[in-house]
Amino acid sequence: MSRLDYRMVDKQGRRMRKLRISLLDACNLRCLYCMPERPTFMPQKDWASTKDLIRITRNLVTLGIEEVRLTGGEPLLRRDFMEIAHELSALPVKKLGLTTNALLLAPHLQLLLHSKLQHLNISLDSLDAENFCRITRRDGFNTVMDAIYTAKEFGFSVKVNAVMMKGVNDHELSAFVKWSATHDIPVRFLEVMNIGVMKSQFRERFLSASDMMAMLRADYQFNALNDTPDSTSRNFHVSNGAKIGFITSESNPFCTGCSRLRLTPKGQIRPCLFMEEGIDLKSLASADYPAALAAIIAMKPTGRIPHQPQPMYQIGG
Ligand code: SAM
Ligand code: SF4
Repeated sequence: MSRLDYRMVDKQGRRMRKLRISLLDACNLRCLYCMPERPTFMPQKDWASTKDLIRITRNLVTLGIEEVRLTGGEPLLRRDFMEIAHELSALPVKKLGLTTNALLLAPHLQLLLHSKLQHLNISLDSLDAENFCRITRRDGFNTVMDAIYTAKEFGFSVKVNAVMMKGVNDHELSAFVKWSATHDIPVRFLEVMNIGVMKSQFRERFLSASDMMAMLRADYQFNALNDTPDSTSRNFHVSNGAKIGFITSESNPFCTGCSRLRLTPKGQIRPCLFMEEGIDLKSLASADYPAALAAIIAMKPTGRIPHQPQPMYQIGG
């Protein structure tokens, strides 16, 4: 093992390959499992600047990060989003991705075509305009659907993420499976997580992946795919041609294979979504990165931490 690899591997043998960058906490939707109706967002002046973000990411890529995903809040709300995407495209990363609600995606697609950012995970919790509005507390269903179809037509790798909740959208499970087959777009069903605003309604709304599969088994057969050890989803080919996955964050957390580090909007690196501890990289000299990274990797928990005081949109989902 080279010295470089050694620094990126923790005591459990997990190799850190992926970086999830949260660009901001603000959003143009108010999904009921994610945000309160009137959230307080951090002042814009606290966001890491474009320059800081690029310098931080370059240093982390030099030390072994191979894949970068931009998230938030809603990353496309940052005015410097395209600049960030282009600067990151110049780094030697194997994969550059974006997690977005797609409300502002369509106008960016033409420009993104010329970048390395080709992997789009789009959040869509309903295929019905009214239910979309109920869940997100905003209009915008048609805009999001148009963006999804255009992105697919342009040749981006598009996946849809749907957070499934009892009594909210579980009646749409089968419709999503049909839609995935019709449009050749993989859909990943997320178990809702007991975090932030969900804490008070978790018991009532939680639907496990095994319950989702049981609901679908009457109509479909599943063929399990060979997922990579650090995959966050268990993926299947379905008898109707759909590609679906389940993200079992609650019933079967994927900590044992975790290869992710996180960067908060303020430029703090954290070992885990469920930890508030981290190290501010904005003011750190490049020479001090290896030691900081070693400290962060040593802090990585081996299994799911039961409680995260910060909501998801502040850390980056
Ligand atoms: N705004 C972007 C979006 O919605 O795709 C990116 C940020 S959002 C926090 C990232 C992902 O976290 C989304 O797929 C969203 O559905 C998911 N998410 C947020 N709160 C969640 C919760 N309580 N349980 C499960 N997933 C959640
Ligand atoms: Fe916004 Fe994404 Fe949270 Fe929905 S899930 S409120 S789109 S940050």
